Amino acid sequence: MSSEQGNEDFRNRHSTVTEKGKRKWVYALKPKGKFYQYRTWLSYFYLILFFALPFIKVDGSPMFQFNFPEGEFTFFGQLFTPQDFIMFGIGMLIAVLFVIIFTLIYGRVFCGWVCPQTIFMEMVFRKIEYLIEGDANKQRLNDRKDWTTEIYIRKAIKHFVFLVISFLISNTFLAYIIGVDELFKIMREPVSEHIVGFVAIFFFTLVFYAVYAFIREIVCTVVCPYGRLQGVLLDKNSILVAYNYLRGEPRDKKNAAHTGDCIDCKMCVNVCPTNIDIRNGTQLECINCTACIDACNMMMEKVGKAPDLITYASENGIASGKKFEFTYRIKSYTAVLGVLIVLLGILIATRTTFDATIMRVPGQTIQENADGTISNLYRIKVTNKSNKALPYHLEAADPTVKLERIGLPLDSLKGRQLTEETFFIKVKPSDVHKRKVKYEINLMSGDKVMATKNATFISEF
Ligand code: SF4
Ligand code: SF4
Repeated sequence: MSSEQGNEDFRNRHSTVTEKGKRKWVYALKPKGKFYQYRTWLSYFYLILFFALPFIKVDGSPMFQFNFPEGEFTFFGQLFTPQDFIMFGIGMLIAVLFVIIFTLIYGRVFCGWVCPQTIFMEMVFRKIEYLIEGDANKQRLNDRKDWTTEIYIRKAIKHFVFLVISFLISNTFLAYIIGVDELFKIMREPVSEHIVGFVAIFFFTLVFYAVYAFIREIVCTVVCPYGRLQGVLLDKNSILVAYNYLRGEPRDKKNAAHTGDCIDCKMCVNVCPTNIDIRNGTQLECINCTACIDACNMMMEKVGKAPDLITYASENGIASGKKFEFTYRIKSYTAVLGVLIVLLGILIATRTTFDATIMRVPGQTIQENADGTISNLYRIKVTNKSNKALPYHLEAADPTVKLERIGLPLDSLKGRQLTEETFFIKVKPSDVHKRKVKYEINLMSGDKVMATKNATFISEF
């Protein structure tokens, strides 16, 4: 917080809402400067990655797929199913802790540089808007006067282009969930065969269009839970986009002898996509987009002053010139993160290619067979998590236990597929010494034991 202001009135109202409670439309000026240039290059990389990733395959399977409806996730070609829920839970915990630690140290760097909302809003949709409707000042002027035919046409073109891009994003988004092959099927085959798919594409297109055409910065300032968490995640040592009030203040132009470096040109406010004045201090609405750094540096250069009046710095750093320190909080979070990463590594390293659940068939009791053995009936659900078909059969670890598979026994498992079969466990009554016995069943691929699962045998002992 600036030492000079002390007036916290700005915190009592939303930066994009007028005093009468109406939406204040943000006409953000296009920034010019090194950070905007870096963000532009990064956005090209990001956009190429976003649109290309669903098409990249490993051994014929997607490299990344997030099949939420079926609870299956593919990372770097590795399939994770609901059976990997422990690994998944630890992975999620690590992700959350990573976000906390990262935010604690580097503030909202993610929002400004990586978040898809900012990338698409500032680097795609807003640039298209500048191209079609002119710069921010022209847009503001046009919106204030009666619309001419030209303005109507330009707005119509803009909204049409926004809809087309939203449609592309929607399709790509869906490809991450269902895979490109399924998406192409939806495109090629009759609508009646893919009602859900078509509804999803239509729905997501409208959502993306509404977000980028109308909702815009409200996603960051009101909707996004990560943005709302900043109040508890940041401390005074977190690195943020910050105004150096010691250098900038006072702005009292009447007293030229005591004027700070800020020339009160308000360029930092005019470029801000969330319409805040960073000179008021750290605010939840700031997405750390760096537009105000570029704008202010440009002004400083024009008036012949040193750059970085607005820069990346911590509140403590500005107040005392103190360098960044690893606090006790960061150290303890990092230690927990380290333990979880090791645990996740162990789980991944010991993860089996075959995974299965074996259940006794409900309603089936113990059976006595003509050969003098007794048996229980089981159902096995087995998944081959690799991308290719592998030989498969079942074997009991105990040689006194016999397995009898029902129907045509499976001799191979297709890659990335769940398969089911039914089998009996047969034992001699003299080998069973208690009512419930656990037998180990090996899931074999050729001579290799891919996984071992327990089956509970119930007798009348
Ligand atoms: S204050 Fe600066 S960094 Fe924060 S959102 Fe506005 S322009 Fe971006
Ligand atoms: S751009 Fe820099 S000089 Fe201009 S008002 Fe903002 S902080 Fe002051």
